[in-house]
Parts: sequence; structure tokens; C-alpha cells
Amino acid sequence: MLESKTGAAIYCRVSTTEQAEQGYSLESQEKDCRRFSDSHDLIIKETFIERGESAKTQKRTQLQRLLKYASVNKKIIGAVIVWKIDRLTRNVSDFQQLHNYFTSLEIRLLSVTETNEDSPIGRFLRTLLSAQAQLDNEQKSERTKRNMLEAMQKGRWLWPAPTGYKYAKEPGQKSIIIPTQDSIYVTEAFALFQTGVYRQVDIVSHLQQKGFNVTETLLNKILRNPLYTGLLKNKWIAEPIEGVHKPIVPRDVFLKVQFILTGKNPFKLQRHRERSDFPLKGLLLCHKCSKKLTAGWSRGRRGVKYGYYHCPTKGCSVNLRNDHLEDLFPDYLRSIQPKSEYLDLFEAILHDTWKTRQEAQLKEKRRLESEIQGLGEKIKTLDGLLSKGLDLEDYKRNIDQIKNDIMAKRIALSDLKVDESDFSECVQYCKLFLANTAKLWEEGNLTQRQRFQNLIFPTGITFDGETIRTKETALIYAHFQAKTKAEYHLVALRGFEPRSDD
Ligand SMILES: [Zn+2]
Repeated sequence: MLESKTGAAIYCRVSTTEQAEQGYSLESQEKDCRRFSDSHDLIIKETFIERGESAKTQKRTQLQRLLKYASVNKKIIGAVIVWKIDRLTRNVSDFQQLHNYFTSLEIRLLSVTETNEDSPIGRFLRTLLSAQAQLDNEQKSERTKRNMLEAMQKGRWLWPAPTGYKYAKEPGQKSIIIPTQDSIYVTEAFALFQTGVYRQVDIVSHLQQKGFNVTETLLNKILRNPLYTGLLKNKWIAEPIEGVHKPIVPRDVFLKVQFILTGKNPFKLQRHRERSDFPLKGLLLCHKCSKKLTAGWSRGRRGVKYGYYHCPTKGCSVNLRNDHLEDLFPDYLRSIQPKSEYLDLFEAILHDTWKTRQEAQLKEKRRLESEIQGLGEKIKTLDGLLSKGLDLEDYKRNIDQIKNDIMAKRIALSDLKVDESDFSECVQYCKLFLANTAKLWEEGNLTQRQRFQNLIFPTGITFDGETIRTKETALIYAHFQAKTKAEYHLVALRGFEPRSDD
């Protein structure tokens, strides 16, 4: 059954505590391994005995010898025999690495006391067994856990340092986390996100351009981590604990970010109005000739400065004071802001629509999966034909084509993944944005304001000295212009569902 290579190596290990137990001794392990190899027509070429070292780490001298030996003698060694898989390692990922290593040398890993079926199921079982071994190990560390909890209550973070921090140790002191150079990016990410203007994906690409190695998943994790504000929190403790490390994000900023992320934690926003010159420049059109207005200061008789928006067209004398208009603008935004009852309805409708799309995606997913499976069958058929004399060139050309097809479909498949939590977050953000349009504009800086207003009024606004008008508001706001709930429902449905020709 065991291919052509008949050589084998035995690996035995025992830890001091197990030594006394019957069946665990090195002698019995080795004896069992030899009996196993005999019954499988394998010839023992080398034996590696590890004595009394911990299975926690892989830095074992005999194991290292075995690995080297296996690679040098891969032509004659067809199997490595162990009494039990956990003799090799108690860690799942280590086991997988070992398994891959031996597989690459075409050496089978055989266990005397466990299943050796080299099928997906056999492999899975072995992974499971080594996972069990890992769990045992973790239970042993329960005591360590208590010690760590104690240290944590004193304000020390004990887990891997999050992005933007690293561990540092002063002589004679316990090690604590300190900010790294990356911390400026973390701080910036919070600062940007708290404005409510940027999506996470915008922040990711912005920071990536600056040289920060960040993904959307990582950013999301960062934005939710209270450690950055100096608080320790994990599943072991009910209430956050004040840490001893240096915070890199102000707590109010952190809270604001949580508010945006979850829509909860109502947090009073401070109104700080930045005096920026002519925020409406670029948006404001002349109500007479539709030209974009320019802006500038002029000095009054007593030396007082006045700001004006004025029309550049010759002969068109439109000239508007800035302060009056800029005070009216937030009110105007407030007037197009949807009411909260509409927003709840909006959320419900979005949810319905999302569900429908999700079902369609699921269908698409199944289709792709079955196509990939079909292509897999095709490869098998071609393999069969090859052994029956199919031209090698033809075979290669066909196989390459199929493999490319499979890859393309796999990519399509991964594009389909839409996470419900992403969706909810997106809806919450959207609601927040819609419900706070005016406030967000008032609190934004010049760039944020301009980004905002161009989004809401794609074709600009006009002002005749009394009323602000616009030809077009963003579709999303237009949805909320309906007067009653029922009417809104109709409008919304028409907007979000595929249109029929009515
Ligand atoms: Zn004009």
C-alpha cells in the first residue's frame, strides 16, 4: 500500500511527566512503531528519540535532525512513523507545516495509534487531533491566565501590541507598550473618520499612499480598539481599565468614532465654527446668468472688511454678502434633511432590498461553485485521456485554459461575499450622514464642507438675496422630499427596486 519507497524513520518523544505512565514510555513507543513498520512492510532506516523536552515549541534537537535527515534521504524514506501525532507537535499550525513539509518530500506521516487514511477526511481528523492536543496545552495555562489578569488590573497590556504600538522595557521595569512611528497614522485615521465625511475605504487609500501598511479589515479593527485611548478591555474583564500606556487618540474622538460606527452612544458634538473664507465658492451660481460666482473681500468706509460673492460676467452686477448667505445655508440643509421616521423606513427598505440581492448572490455563488466543480471534473477527464495517449501539447493547452477559468471564477466568487455587518454599518453611516447633514457641514473644515456640498448639490445652488434654490439635489435627498410616509414608501420603492416601464 505504501508506494515504492520502503524506508522509514521513527520519531519518539516523551515529556518527563508522562514518563511514568504505562504505554507512554519511550521504549513502548519505539516498540509499537517497529511493530507497525513491520506490518506495513517498511524498513526502519533511522530512529530519533527525543527525551524530556516540552512539546510546546518545535525547537527540538531530534526533530530538527529528523527534518534534515528526511530531506537528505527523501529518495529512500517513504514514511515517518510516530506513536501518536501529538508526539510531533501540540500546535495546529505547526502540525500543518510539518505535514506540508513531509508531503513535499513525498514522505507520509504515519501514526501508530491514529487514522492514517490519506484522504481529506483523514487529514481533517489529524488536524482535529492535533487541535485537541493544543487545547490540552491551553487548559494547562489557566494558571498563567490568572497571573495575567492580575497584571492587567494594574494597567498593563499583555497581549501582542496593536498596530501603532510596540513593547519596550526599561531596565528593572516590566515591559509596556509605547507608540511607534505608525502611531501618527492611527491618530490620523481616527481624526479623519470622526469627521463623518470619509468612508473607511477612503482613509485606507489615503494612508496607504502615505506609506502606512493598512487594509480595510485592519482599519476597522483599529477604529474599534479602545486601547488607543488608554483603556484596557478584553473578554476577561467586565469594565475597561485605565492603562499605564500612553494614549494616542483623545477619548472624545474615540467616542465620536464609535458613534459613527454603530449609530449608538449619543455623544454631544461640540460646535466649533471655523472661519474659513467663502466655503460656498464653486457651488454658488449666479441666479441671473448661471455663471459660477467668485468671491473676495472689500473694505467699507470705516475700514471694516466685508466678504462678497460676485458674478464675473460683464454687465451682470450680482453681488452677495457672504455672512448672510453662509448663515442661511445650514438652515437650507436642515430643510432638506430627512425626518427620523423616514430614516427608519429607509433602513427597513434598504434591508429588504439587501436581502433580495443577497438571495440573488447566493444563487450566483452556487452557480459559480458548481461550474468550478465541473471544471475540476474536466481536469480529471483530461488526466485520464493523457494516460490513454492524448497529445501532451493538447493536454497542456487545455489544462492551462481550465485552470485560468477556475481562477477567474474563484475571484468572482470572492467578490460576491457581502457581509451583513458591513451592510449594517454602511446603513448606520448613511443614516447618520442624512440625519446630520447640516451639523456635519457646520463642523467641517473648508475641504470637508466643499466635498459635502458638491455631493449633495451636484449642479450647484443659486441665491437671489432671499432664497436658496437648486436644480438638483442628490438622489438620496430627493427620496425624502415626499410629504407623507405612504408617499415616501412609494418613492423609495421606485428608487431602489428595478424599474418597470410604468
Ligand atoms: Zn451673473
